[in-house]
Amino acid sequence: MIRTTDGIELTLKQLCARLQETGWDPVFPYRTALTTKQALAVLSDVGLLPSAVDPTGGDLSSRCAIRYGLCRLDVRLDLAWVMQGLSTDGLHGSSHAPVEKCISQARSGETVGSFALTELNAGSDLRGIETTLARTASGWRLNGTKTYLTHGATADFYTVLAKVDAAGDDDPGSRFALVVVPASIVGVERRAQALVASHPMGTVRFANVEVCEEQIVTCEDGMKSALRTLSRFRPTVGAAAMGLARRAWDEAYTYCCNRTQGGRVLSDNRLVQMRLVDARIQLETGEALLDRAVKESSSSGQSPSGLLPIAWSSMAKLQGTESAQQVIDTCVQLHGARGLDRNHTVAHLHTSIRAMRIYEGASDVQRHIIMNALFNSR
Ligand SMILES: Cc1cc2nc3c(=O)[nH]c(=O)nc-3n(C[C@H](O)[C@H](O)[C@H](O)COP(=O)(O)OP(=O)(O)OC[C@H]3O[C@@H](n4cnc5c(N)ncnc54)[C@H](O)[C@@H]3O)c2cc1C
Repeated sequence: MIRTTDGIELTLKQLCARLQETGWDPVFPYRTALTTKQALAVLSDVGLLPSAVDPTGGDLSSRCAIRYGLCRLDVRLDLAWVMQGLSTDGLHGSSHAPVEKCISQARSGETVGSFALTELNAGSDLRGIETTLARTASGWRLNGTKTYLTHGATADFYTVLAKVDAAGDDDPGSRFALVVVPASIVGVERRAQALVASHPMGTVRFANVEVCEEQIVTCEDGMKSALRTLSRFRPTVGAAAMGLARRAWDEAYTYCCNRTQGGRVLSDNRLVQMRLVDARIQLETGEALLDRAVKESSSSGQSPSGLLPIAWSSMAKLQGTESAQQVIDTCVQLHGARGLDRNHTVAHLHTSIRAMRIYEGASDVQRHIIMNALFNSR
C-alpha cells in the first residue's frame, strides 16, 4: 500500500513536530525556507534516512509510503530523502574506505549526495555519455561535464557515471565506471541552474580531477549499476507524485468549502463539486494502480498478470506522474489566481509535478519500456 502505515504515520507526525519547532508551518510549508541540510537534519532525527540509504532499510512498499507521506508534507523533504538514496544505492558492496565513508555520512545526513548521470548529449539515452575516467601513470583522471543535477551546485559528493578510457581496451569506451567524487577536490567546478520549479539544480565540470583507485566503485558495470538504481527507485516516483496530488486535492477541497463568491461558497456550485469529484476519482484510481504496480514490480519473474516487473515499475511511474499532473492542474484552477501565487502550496505542487514527468525517464521513455515488455518478449 502506498498509503502510510501506522509506524510511518507516527514518524511523519514526529517529523512535523520537529519542523514546527524551526518555524515551519504545515499549512503553508513553502512560506518558510528549508535548505537540504535542514531537511536532512530533521529526517535524520526521526530516523528516516536509513530507509533511503540502506538496501535493508525498507522494502519498495515502505519506500513508496515514505515518499507519498513526505510529498504530502513538503516536497523538499522528499527530495532530500530520495537523493541520499539515489546517490548511494550503487555504492553498496564496495569495501573501499572513501566509499563506505560516503554511505555512512549520507545515512546520518551529514553530507548531501548528487547522482551525476545526465550530460548535454546524454539525457534519456545514457549511452551518449562523454565524461571519461582515464588511466594515468599514477591513478585515474576524470574529465567531463554533468548537467541538470539535483544538488549539482550544492552536494558534498557526486556519484558519477563515466566512460572508461584505459590503454589496452579492445573496445575503448565500452566500459562504464561509477566513481565517488568529493565536491571539495581540486578540479570540481560548479554553478547553479535556475528552473521554473524551486529545485536545487546545478551543473558540475570535472576538469582533470585526480581519482584514486579507492574512489572507484566499479570500472566495468557502472552503466548496469546506474540503470539498476533508476529501476529500483522508479515506482517511488509514482508514489511521490500521488502524494503531491493528494495534498493538492486536500488544499482544493478546503479552499472551495471556504471561499465565498456571490454570496455562496464555491463548493455549493455543482460544477465545482464535479471537478473535485473527477479529481478525486483520478486520485483514487491512480493510487490503486500504484498499489498493484508496487506489488507486481516487487515480484520476481513474470507475474500472473503476464507482465514483467519492469513493465509494472514503468507503469507506476508513468501513470502516477501523469494522473497526478492532471489532478494538480484541476486543483490549481479551483484556487483561481491564488493558485499561481509563488508561495502558495498548490503552485509549488504544480511546478514539482511537471519535473517528475521528465526526470528518471520521461513519460514516453516509460511507454517504450512497457511496449518492449509487452511486444518484444513474446
Ligand atoms: C527536476 C529535475 C531533476 C533532475 N535531476 C537529475 C539528477 O539528479 N541527476 C541526473 O543525472 N539527471 C537529473 N535530471 C535530468 C533528467 O534525468 C533528464 O532531464 C531526463 O533523463 C531527460 O533527458 P533530457 O532532458 O536530455 O531530454 P531528452 O533526452 O533530450 O528528451 C527530450 C524528450 O524527448 C522525448 N524522448 C527522448 N527519448 C525518447 C524515447 N526513447 N522514446 C520516446 N520519447 C523520447 C521525451 O518526450 C523527452 O522528454 C533532472 C531533471 C529534472 C527536470
